[in-house]
Amino acid sequence: MNVILFGPPGSGKGTQSKLLVERVGFTHLSTGEALRNAVGQRTRRGLEAEGIMATGSLVPDALVTEILADLIAHYRPDSDSFLFDGYPRTVSQVSLFDALLKEYRLAEPKVVNLSVPEGYLVARLSGRWMCTRCKATFNVHFKPVAQAGVCDACGGQLVQRPDDKPETVVERLRVYREMTAPVFDEYKRRGWIETVDGVGRQETVYGRIVDALGIATRNRG
Ligand code: ADP
Ligand code: ZN
Repeated sequence: MNVILFGPPGSGKGTQSKLLVERVGFTHLSTGEALRNAVGQRTRRGLEAEGIMATGSLVPDALVTEILADLIAHYRPDSDSFLFDGYPRTVSQVSLFDALLKEYRLAEPKVVNLSVPEGYLVARLSGRWMCTRCKATFNVHFKPVAQAGVCDACGGQLVQRPDDKPETVVERLRVYREMTAPVFDEYKRRGWIETVDGVGRQETVYGRIVDALGIATRNRG
């Protein structure tokens, strides 16, 4: 089964992806993560994306689609259950994605729409800190650490994503409404959307997602 995890920035796509990968065995394809890796490695694509991402805008469709195609090509020989996170994010990307699904003979995805009211998103994003070592995430409002700047799980150093600064967060939400919400409308029209309430504890939201997808899973928490 292929799944698109859809929802605004801060709706919990990253957190839920992690659980779905660990417990169901999806291959996680996150365009945001792939772009951040490209930035870190100073590749040509990374250098082009870096400044755009820092302002909260979307990187060009062609660039991000190349990145996604590379990921699919890399994993496709061994995997036929992908979890797409952060793509498609524009109406043009929907068509580009249709072509990729065809090229790699991937089954029509189910789209999980994580629904979270906008009021929650700013606090979730601007309070978020991530461990550089184990990638665990924390939040100054909802999930504080014992010692500032230090990961509770592994003792690693915590950093804030450059695009989680409050002014950039507001821009990302604006871009979501303007560019990405129409993707929802298109998939709704196709009947691909399963809406899941994204407010609640991680485990609660996880339970709703697997129920919506009709999949069996370990650790219901
Ligand atoms: P979030 O969903 O929290 O905004 P992501 O990690 O998915 O975070 O994306 C971070 C940034 O990477 C986006 O703000 C955008 O600049 C870029 N990006 C990721 N996916 C895409 C995409 N499909 N199209 C264009 N830009 C993207
Ligand atoms: Zn850690």
